[in-house]
Amino acid sequence: GFPSDKRLEGFDYRHQTTITKRQVSALLDFAFLDNRENLVFIGPPGVGKTHLAIGIGQKAIEAGYRVLFRNALDLVEELELAEMKGELKKTLHKLAKVDALVIDELGYLPMSRQARYALFQLINRFYEHRSLIITTNKDFTSWGEFFHDDNVAVPIVDRIIHHSHLYLLGGESYRLKQKTLS
Ligand code: ADP
Ligand code: MG
Repeated sequence: GFPSDKRLEGFDYRHQTTITKRQVSALLDFAFLDNRENLVFIGPPGVGKTHLAIGIGQKAIEAGYRVLFRNALDLVEELELAEMKGELKKTLHKLAKVDALVIDELGYLPMSRQARYALFQLINRFYEHRSLIITTNKDFTSWGEFFHDDNVAVPIVDRIIHHSHLYLLGGESYRLKQKTLS
C-alpha cells in the first residue's frame, strides 16, 4: 500500500544533512524489526520523512519481512469503523500480522476521542510485539496537546518512544527546493 515508489537509492543526503546514510544503512540489517523496535521520523513538511519510511519499508519487504503502509487518518478511520462494527479486536489482530506498520503523518490533524482511543488500542497491540514506523510533524512535547491531554496521550507516547529510534529531521523542504529550481 505504499502511496508511491520511493527508493533509498534515490535519497539525496547532500540535501538532507540532518540524517546520514550511515544511520539509515545501519537499519538495513533489520535488527530493529527482529527486536520489535520502532522508528520515528519527526520534522516539518518536505524533509523526506515519508520517503525514508517507504524506502526502508521496501528494503524490509525485499528482505522477506511483511510491511504495511497506512496514512494515519485512513488507519484511524479503519479502526473506528471496526470499533463501530464490534470488530476492533479482529482488525487489530489482522494488522498485527505484519512485522512493521508504517503510520504516515501522525499528528497532522486533530482526532476525535474515539479515534484516539482506537489508536491507543493499536499501539498497545504492537508494543513489544511488532514494529511501528511513524512519520510525524509533532515532537513528543506537543503530543499531549495533540491528544488533548486526555488519559491516552501519556501512555501512547510512552509506548511509542520506549524501544525506539528517533530521527529529528530538519532543513528546508525538498518540494520547495524543486520549485525554486524550476
Ligand atoms: P515529508 O514526508 O517529510 O513531508 P517527503 O518524504 O514526502 O517529505 O518528501 C517530499 C518529496 O521530496 C518527495 O517526493 C520525496 O521523494 C522528495 N525528497 C525529500 N527529501 C529528499 C531527499 N533528501 N532526496 C531525494 N528526494 C527527497
Ligand atoms: Mg510525509
